[in-house]
Amino acid sequence: MPKCDVCHNECNLSEGDTGLCRARKYENGSFKCVNYGLVTSIALDPIEKKPLNLFYPGSNIISVGSFGCNLRCPFCQNHEISYGFGKEYDMGFREISPNELLEIAKEYEKYGNIGVAFTYNEPLVGYEYVCDAAKLLKENGLKTVLVSNGNVGKRVRDLVIPYIDAMNIDLKGFTDKYYSEVLGGNRQMVMDFIEEAAKSCHVEVTTLVVPGFNDSDKEMEEISGFLASLNDGRGKDEIALHISRYFPRFKMNVPATDVGRIYELRDVAKKNLKHVFTGNC
Ligand code: SF4
Repeated sequence: MPKCDVCHNECNLSEGDTGLCRARKYENGSFKCVNYGLVTSIALDPIEKKPLNLFYPGSNIISVGSFGCNLRCPFCQNHEISYGFGKEYDMGFREISPNELLEIAKEYEKYGNIGVAFTYNEPLVGYEYVCDAAKLLKENGLKTVLVSNGNVGKRVRDLVIPYIDAMNIDLKGFTDKYYSEVLGGNRQMVMDFIEEAAKSCHVEVTTLVVPGFNDSDKEMEEISGFLASLNDGRGKDEIALHISRYFPRFKMNVPATDVGRIYELRDVAKKNLKHVFTGNC
């Protein structure tokens, strides 16, 4: 059976099948992206909302998302579009070509817009649109931002990175068990993605702290230590870490993270990193 090479799931698909991400299909003997240009959400957001605190602070950015995701996080805040399938989801979308996206981005420059952020669902399950649109935006002097879970293989990673100016990448924890058993992801793939992106982009990383799953001092020491190991030679553009507070969402019911614990973990991370921010506190 043909195997998709975009991410760690390596879906084996027969003719007419759609992959776990719901964004890719095997049809007429080849893999196709089925969410190309299908935008479920578009908004002008402050750049800090991505979150990016050290990339053109104070600016705004047009943020677009489609549907589909290659992870299955039980606390997903955007499950309507990430798990976009099934009768319970009534998902509307609007078709926006890369050229139309450029026009929108240009039109909003008068409102402080600097470019486009690909976000909301996992953008890289539809990497073709990200590449086409980001290339066009950059050619026209606009900035490109990617907000991703980083779970893609080398081929897609190497295609996308040259078109992106800044990324916020989730590093959701530092154990393989949490990544594989709770999130349905691959920690090493994310670490490789962060390492490669950091060679040419501005990078900030987000860790959502979930009580009992990834909230130990040891795990935060490891996360911040890994990021610090990538900072050699980056000068002032050191990788920033956002430590974010979890709230019960979707299928996850453990109580919200204690605010005090977030500040304790910030202090742990500060031993390794210059830029540490807290979120949702
Ligand atoms: S991108 Fe989608 S279809 Fe391809 S391997 Fe990942 S989940 Fe499966």
